[in-house]
Amino acid sequence: MSEKLLQVKNLEIQYKTDLETVYAVNGISFALDKGETLGIVGETGAGKTTAALSILRLLPEKTARIPKGEILFRGENLLLKPEAEMRSTRGEQISMIFQDPMTSLNPILTVGDQIFEALAFHNDTGMTREQMEARVDETLELVGIPRSRKRDYPHQFSGGMKQRVVIAIALACEPELLIADEPTTALDVTIQAQVLAMMNDLKHKLNTAMILITHDLGIVAQTCDHVAVMYAGEFVEYGSVFDLFTADKHHPYTDGLFGSIPNLEVETDRLQPIDGLMPDPTDLPSGCKFSPRCPKCMDICTKQKPTTYQNGTHRIACHLYSGKEVEEA
Ligand code: SF4
Repeated sequence: MSEKLLQVKNLEIQYKTDLETVYAVNGISFALDKGETLGIVGETGAGKTTAALSILRLLPEKTARIPKGEILFRGENLLLKPEAEMRSTRGEQISMIFQDPMTSLNPILTVGDQIFEALAFHNDTGMTREQMEARVDETLELVGIPRSRKRDYPHQFSGGMKQRVVIAIALACEPELLIADEPTTALDVTIQAQVLAMMNDLKHKLNTAMILITHDLGIVAQTCDHVAVMYAGEFVEYGSVFDLFTADKHHPYTDGLFGSIPNLEVETDRLQPIDGLMPDPTDLPSGCKFSPRCPKCMDICTKQKPTTYQNGTHRIACHLYSGKEVEEA
């Protein structure tokens, strides 16, 4: 069997201060092949961004700890790589698009210079200045910006165009893995659709693997191959997008996420929010972490960690399905 591009195994991440420990990520595992997209969905505070930043080793050094787990990129554990090697991995092999294009770009450099800078930093192949300038033009055109605008500054672009520039910088070195953290959250809906369509198109053209972090199941349906539903630092449900949108069994949290998105075919007065809040990560509930908010909570749920129901690639960590068609991985 061919080796996966990325394998995350039983990853745990904590933030430690003098007073308390924040249990941000609590044993997640997943794998990704070239050209595949994994969507990670969940509310704010679920641990999605912490998990993504750990792949690039961008967690705050003073407080973050990884007590357990491995992050294998092309078979090599990134957690053991020297920092100097990680600097060339970032941007060249693994790139990240952050949420807000307004703060990701340097206001005093032209957009062309910002793409050029990324190329020059990773210029292992000895490209000449002219070759790098040509690559800047190509990259801008790839994201739908005319090369004539490369001497413009970020403030001369709209929000959607700025996010295209951020994507161009991330793709300049043709990384094998792109991590996009809520890349369209700061954009209005029509521009969101354009940027997502463009990202989908680029993914197919360049065969880039992608981790897409979002709280929006609609975006997952349009862009992802697999999806992980994350709650309180754990994957409570995992499967293909087909599994997620067609299966008759779901984790109650996933049901809650589905209930809180608008459906034009169902006439309702109000959307159904998920009652309650994400638990305090310094003091997580025992048993199932969703139990304080779960409408289907049973006695066992507050006492025992749920077992995993598995059907093909579809996995659900919930006591509701204990003993039902279980094929443990
Ligand atoms: S294990 Fe229990 S509390 Fe947790 S989601 Fe399932 S039914 Fe709800």
